[in-house]
Amino acid sequence: MSDNWILIVPKLPEHVPLPKNAQAALEFLKELAPGADEIEILQSENVQFFDCGANLETISCPRCSASIDLDWWGEAMSSDYDESEGFRLSEFQLPCCSKSAPLNTLVYEFHQAFGRFAFSAMNPDLGLLSDETIRSFETTLGCDVSVVYQHI
Ligand SMILES: [Zn+2]
Repeated sequence: MSDNWILIVPKLPEHVPLPKNAQAALEFLKELAPGADEIEILQSENVQFFDCGANLETISCPRCSASIDLDWWGEAMSSDYDESEGFRLSEFQLPCCSKSAPLNTLVYEFHQAFGRFAFSAMNPDLGLLSDETIRSFETTLGCDVSVVYQHI
């Protein structure tokens, strides 16, 4: 048995949408995925990590495109995370080139996101959301979003 989630996360990690916009977007998502097992809003004081589970294939550098070692990434994730502050998204010096970047700007395949707020739909049976659907969602919500496809 495996399950799939879609997580829709504002692109700015600290951003929390206005409650009325969030409610309207939640209704939109419910209409889009009437057969989903559960649809909910996840909100927290601190920045959390929304992972893609078994869908993670590669992580690469946003500056030079080199592949990033998973062990390096795991250690960087641990040191960026603080019990009381969540993910701080500090700049890390990348192992491949001399550039630095915060962990939310690395290129994850599939995509993964950081944020204080997300919509979560369990087993929505939607496949990949179309650009048009994402744009409608952004208009309703009032901010840009990215979509995480989580497989567990
Ligand atoms: Zn690099």
